[in-house]
Amino acid sequence: MSAELKEGAERGCLRIALAGNPNAGKTSLFNALTGAHHKVGNYPGVTVEKREGSRFRRGREYRFIDLPGIYSLTAYSIDEVVARDFLLDERPDLIIDVLDSTNLERNLYLCLQFQELGIPVVGALNMSDEAEAKGIRIDEKALTAVLGLPMTKTVGTKGSGLDALLDLVDAAVETELSLAGPGRPTRSIRYGDEIEARIEPIEEAIASDPEFALRFPTRWLAVKLLEKDANAYERLAAHRDAARVEGLAKAATAWIERHHAKDAEIVVSEQRYGYIRGAARESVKIARRPDFSVTEAIDKVIMNRFLALPIFVGVLWALFQLTFSIGAYPQAWLESLFGWLSLTLQSALPQGLFRSLLVDGIIGGVGGVFSFVPLIVILFFLLSLLEDIGYMSRAAFATDKFLHAFGLHGQSIFPMILGFGCSVPAIMAARTLKSRRDRIVTILVIPFMSCGAKLPVHVLLAAAFFPRHAASVVMAIYAIGVLLSLVSSFVLKKTILRGDPTPFVMELPPYRAPTLSGLLWHVWEKTWQYMKKAGTVILASSILIWAITSFPKYSIPQAELDSLAQSYQVSHPGAGKPQLEAYLKASSAEAGLEHSAAGQIGKFIVPAFRPLGFDWKISVATITGVAAKEVIVSTMGILYRVGAEGSAESASLRQALRSDSAFSPLIAFVLMLFVLIIPPCLAALATIKAELGWAWLGFAISFMFILGWSLSMGVFQIGTLIGG
Ligand code: GDP
Ligand code: MG
Repeated sequence: MSAELKEGAERGCLRIALAGNPNAGKTSLFNALTGAHHKVGNYPGVTVEKREGSRFRRGREYRFIDLPGIYSLTAYSIDEVVARDFLLDERPDLIIDVLDSTNLERNLYLCLQFQELGIPVVGALNMSDEAEAKGIRIDEKALTAVLGLPMTKTVGTKGSGLDALLDLVDAAVETELSLAGPGRPTRSIRYGDEIEARIEPIEEAIASDPEFALRFPTRWLAVKLLEKDANAYERLAAHRDAARVEGLAKAATAWIERHHAKDAEIVVSEQRYGYIRGAARESVKIARRPDFSVTEAIDKVIMNRFLALPIFVGVLWALFQLTFSIGAYPQAWLESLFGWLSLTLQSALPQGLFRSLLVDGIIGGVGGVFSFVPLIVILFFLLSLLEDIGYMSRAAFATDKFLHAFGLHGQSIFPMILGFGCSVPAIMAARTLKSRRDRIVTILVIPFMSCGAKLPVHVLLAAAFFPRHAASVVMAIYAIGVLLSLVSSFVLKKTILRGDPTPFVMELPPYRAPTLSGLLWHVWEKTWQYMKKAGTVILASSILIWAITSFPKYSIPQAELDSLAQSYQVSHPGAGKPQLEAYLKASSAEAGLEHSAAGQIGKFIVPAFRPLGFDWKISVATITGVAAKEVIVSTMGILYRVGAEGSAESASLRQALRSDSAFSPLIAFVLMLFVLIIPPCLAALATIKAELGWAWLGFAISFMFILGWSLSMGVFQIGTLIGG
């Protein structure tokens, strides 16, 4: 490893891993060091993938890798595996161990294991501001001396202490280079003579295969074997003399367990904790134990046994109420802006294909989706806020018991709530779940948590057909989604994914004021993503939909027009010439649409959708949602406004939908339900495939489609019977 470090130092580029316990502030520090803006959240498990970024200083490049949080080098969940494998297999030149100073002893446990890896370690005593406020005084000089590990205080959120930290990194690199080679003193902890006497022969046996010993730090591996770490045994298989090492390790484990009458891994961890306690006694002073903590006071109410769950439901309710009530205003302004734009263009441009593409295709399609940007902004802002202040962990605790009844547990609630924003990060966030079965169930039900892209569909339909109760109807759809996710996980857990939920240990981080810049950055990032989607996928689909609704061109035969005019005059005896003309224009546009490619496709697929009450236009719109759910809105914007061109009504898609005879409140509701349940967009499907593989993807698609179709069909049929 020193050879690699030397190479790195000569190259002028050091690869430095930021590692540590979850929620210690690694990502905050990473952002401060590299100027990146990755998601920071007051919840363990926000970073599930490693990320890289650079900083240049004194002619040297520091390449930082932000890792997911871990408690120990024995990994269980996928995000932990990501971190462990990176440290072991890619061997960074140096590790910055990010420690939460308010929880120093527990954080040092991992630190000791880093030291055993034989990679230089520098400690960042992060959250030093919080520690100070709590009256915890850490003497970093004393700690450095006791542990033989350079440490300095930092505040990740403010970026203070970075220079001192990088100075330590430089110094550690110099020391490492000058001490390279044999005779380098090991600085890792001693486990006491008895255990050391057993580690030594194992280390020697490992070192007997020099090639293998180059790949793995011998001391670390020897200790891990003693601890019966399954992954360590797997790695050992590559050793030339694996059987002998294994024999030695197993004998040593057995000896320890006989003499201590305890599991070997417990003996080892007790040694570590003893060592840490000693180190802390030398260097940490708790000036005063604050008898009043704000976090505890708030939690007395929020985490109260009886109130926790109702408060959680209230928080969710408030989240959506706020989104709709605040969002409605800017949404209405944007809608009228696009309405004005399309009317202006209509009168400014000559009639023809170009005008039609611009007005019907692009403004009708993309404009309809753009007007939902304010809603999305507010939703993401509120979701981020909940996460940053530290409420998500409370939600996990509050819902844990309740979710057990459905075979899930509290840890699933974070990914599920993220699902209200977007399924893609939500599905990734399920990586923190320890058991594979729990992970699969959680991922399969996340799409039922109605995402931000489905929101425009729900809001449009609810506003058009339930104008006085729009917000309640949309909330009902959300509630149905949550209910479906609970019921489906119950069923999945009782059938193909049987198994008890794994016990759930999670800490409650203190409440923290979110940093405004972090919040705004995150919201901006999401908004930008949404707008990019509108400018790419949705724009492209809109143009495509416009094309298939406009071609092939069809003109209605004169004879047919004449007979239409005659019957119109009979049924509307008082109508004047302008009304007749408008009617004929609309009818011929309608006929053109029916003969277009979209009409043909619609006629072909409509039999599958008729039991749900959908006509061909609704069917086509639903299908286009595969690209992205917002496309359903843009498709409707195109389909329902063709022919309305020029009339004042064309400004409002809501109006157009309401006046279409194929729609009714019942059908609108069934459509919302259908869109809620059927498989999510391509991006989400690709994420499911990446996380679970083809087989589960296939299962997910069939499951959601069958469920969505039959439920919607049932509601439509029953609704029709009752007289909807
Ligand atoms: P990670 O899980 O280790 O990546 O931790 P994050 O960087 O996501 O931070 C977790 C939480 O701690 C966030 O709410 C941060 O705003 C907060 N935080 C990070 N560093 C500090 C710090 O030095 N002081 C204080 N007071 N808060 C911090
Ligand atoms: Mg992180």
